[in-house]
Amino acid sequence: MLINTYNRPDKNFISGKGMKLYDESGSEYLDLVSGIAVNSLGHCHPEMIKTIKKQSEKLLHISNLYHTTEQYELAKKLVELSDHDKVFFCNSGTEAIEAALKIARKYGKVKAYGKSKILYMKDSFHGRTMGALSVTGQPKYQNEFKPLIGGTEECEFNNINNVIKKMPGACAIIVEPIQGEAGLIKADIEFLKKLRELCDKWNCLLIFDEIQCGIGRSGSFFAYEKFGVIPDVVCMAKGLGGGIPIGAVLVNEKANIFVPGDHGTTFGGNAFSCAIANTVLTELVYKGILDGVDKKSKLLKEKLELLKEEFNLIEEVRGIGLLQGLKLNENPSNFIKYALENNVLLVGAGDNVLRVIPPLNVKEIEIEEIYIVLKNIFKEFKGEK
Ligand code: PLP
Repeated sequence: MLINTYNRPDKNFISGKGMKLYDESGSEYLDLVSGIAVNSLGHCHPEMIKTIKKQSEKLLHISNLYHTTEQYELAKKLVELSDHDKVFFCNSGTEAIEAALKIARKYGKVKAYGKSKILYMKDSFHGRTMGALSVTGQPKYQNEFKPLIGGTEECEFNNINNVIKKMPGACAIIVEPIQGEAGLIKADIEFLKKLRELCDKWNCLLIFDEIQCGIGRSGSFFAYEKFGVIPDVVCMAKGLGGGIPIGAVLVNEKANIFVPGDHGTTFGGNAFSCAIANTVLTELVYKGILDGVDKKSKLLKEKLELLKEEFNLIEEVRGIGLLQGLKLNENPSNFIKYALENNVLLVGAGDNVLRVIPPLNVKEIEIEEIYIVLKNIFKEFKGEK
């Protein structure tokens, strides 16, 4: 029935609560994927349920031809939390990237003498639409779909001299502060600082893709706060809606270049999705969950380090905040399969990394549970081989 875009296992999940999922037979699973860093508050958070019920009786959608209170409130919150001035809402990460790429191109045209080249990083991942693919530095996602859009050029991640060489003609640089799909590889602070300097010097926009590492995942609301570098444009999605589709692009005054007619979306930022995202932000930021992320991340990292000491299969613990991973000395796909047979959901990333992504409101006792459950699976997995 479905176009074959995913190799899904033979499981059908029907409900969830917090960090737990349940299949048709009633079996319980520990969800360490969180919808790929989406379910910030876990499954079926009571405040999200309340908002969903309330909003569904009030207003779902009226298009972007009109204002809604829900959209205005969400924009206000994001602007207050950021160093930026304006927001554009869309439905997904890849759409946030498309908007950012159009902002970059228009900026080049009207503010930077017609420069149009967009620089991106090797091993980056920015999404599946043609624009996003064209700035994704991984041939495996691109090769079947060439020709991609022109006027983009790849740079080496964390190699500022390589970027400097490619600056002539560039109107923007797009970078993930931590490359998620590549295997949780952090940008060096110095590299990001130098990118900021280069963008100022060459009249370019600095675009951060915080779709995976933003909205509290890093321990700060924006990952850029952890690096002390403020981009001109921030792309967000995933965790912002806690499970409903929403994306957003934040811009500072320099990048506030769109006028009516330049860009648009039918669904993006409708009343329903914004109401829910407002609840996610209220819980996360204003009710203290975010304050606990650093502490919980430290605990999770400690537990993962213990696993590393215990099992030779694990080479390294990597990540930021509650976006952690274990680099294995083999492809993690067999382990992921084995974990699912043992009722644990995990997702891989590049460079043999197994991601461990709990919800941001995970409790300390649940981190203990994660450790024990993973330890047992590692033990049995090794025994199996
Ligand atoms: N950018 C990053 C860093 C991502 O991790 C992803 C998705 O994994 C995307 C962009 C694309 O987001 P979406 O799948 O919502 O289009």
